[in-house]
Amino acid sequence: MKTQWKIFAEGIGEPCFVIHYGEVGLKGENRSFFEGQLMKNIKMAIKDISKTSMLKYHGRFILPLPSPELMEPIQERLARVFGIVYFAPALLVTQDIEHIETAARHLMANLTFSSFAIKTRRAQKRFPLSSQEVNIRVGAAVQQQSGARVDLSNPDVTCYIEIFDNKALVYAQKIPAAGGLPVGVSERAVSLLSAGIDSPVASYKIMKRGVKLIFVHFHSVPLTSSASIENATKQVEFLTQFQYHSKLYLVPFLEVQQQIMAHAPKDYRVVLYRRFMLRLAEKIAYRERAKALVTGESIAQVASQTLSNMQVINEVATLPVLRPLAGDDKEEIIQQAKTIGTFHVSIDPYEGCCSLFIPKHPVTRAKREVVLEAESKLDMDNLLKEALSKTEVLKFHFPKTEQGEAL
Ligand code: ATP
Ligand code: MG
Repeated sequence: MKTQWKIFAEGIGEPCFVIHYGEVGLKGENRSFFEGQLMKNIKMAIKDISKTSMLKYHGRFILPLPSPELMEPIQERLARVFGIVYFAPALLVTQDIEHIETAARHLMANLTFSSFAIKTRRAQKRFPLSSQEVNIRVGAAVQQQSGARVDLSNPDVTCYIEIFDNKALVYAQKIPAAGGLPVGVSERAVSLLSAGIDSPVASYKIMKRGVKLIFVHFHSVPLTSSASIENATKQVEFLTQFQYHSKLYLVPFLEVQQQIMAHAPKDYRVVLYRRFMLRLAEKIAYRERAKALVTGESIAQVASQTLSNMQVINEVATLPVLRPLAGDDKEEIIQQAKTIGTFHVSIDPYEGCCSLFIPKHPVTRAKREVVLEAESKLDMDNLLKEALSKTEVLKFHFPKTEQGEAL
């Protein structure tokens, strides 16, 4: 069903979005922290469109809509704010049955349906009619206007009426949003972003749990072109719309790769690259006070992602390594990338740093002794220090001004 934009009408209440968020497990202080962060994030997400302040009541936010043209752009932004379960265009009216009925009739007149239900919830028990009496009265008015039948178990459209404090809210179209938890409530993590298909999806899933990400990309410029950097930059630009401020660390990896090539067996290269990536990412994580690392690995998708190799790679990390795609098939990951919107950026052709110098048959059961033997020939501390000292950091903001600056 098309979203209804015609909620504006002279004299019938105040148009607004009513915003519903998940309540599971939210108690006491935890709840106000969650609500505070969500409200902050919503304001940030729409600050270039509207600055009207929101109201909070009984586990919902009300965002007043100053004009009809703002509905569509605000809807697009709200759909991407983690923590919102759904939202609805609504009319806020005074607590009076005449006004409630007029608002319901107005909203329902703009929809097509052959069956409907009215569902009333009263948080204000002083209202003279019971919920059931409101349902019957408004239901009769809507029935007379539309000719549709009442169906309480499987209606085409449900009109919700919520009575609280000294106001009432009426709405008939719920728009599903991203769900999850507001970014910022679950601390920080460093995401290893290759600019392939998987790592942006992994990043999205972790952000969705309320984690603020810092991104790290390893590149082999000047031996490769800067295409992988451009790709990672585009991905971070896109992903920043879910967390509003991002940093991308661009780590030069060529020197590390060349040293590994010179000292390690060919089939162990990828395992060693990955161990260095984790070590470097972890140093950045400590600097950023991040509590975990994130990768786009999926079990057995490629040789470096067997459990044996993951074990040997993981050993260098002291922080937890989150692998949200561990159990997903490639096809499922591609589907998720399409839904999120990262897929079209990922498939831009590029030479990643790890497509270079990769043998045809990498080891699938890496042995720790072989890895340690190869690493003992490297000047580890210096390699890590050098790579970090040449690392560049880019900053991203959403929304941006037309000049691309932070608002
Ligand atoms: P992706 O689609 O994310 O590139 P992939 O299937 O190509 O994943 P690999 O190339 O083996 O798998 O990489 C596994 C994970 O290691 C990636 O998901 C990413 O988290 C990390 N990674 C790999 N290459 C890089 C890189 N150049 N910079 C940052 N992280 C990387
Ligand atoms: Mg890759």
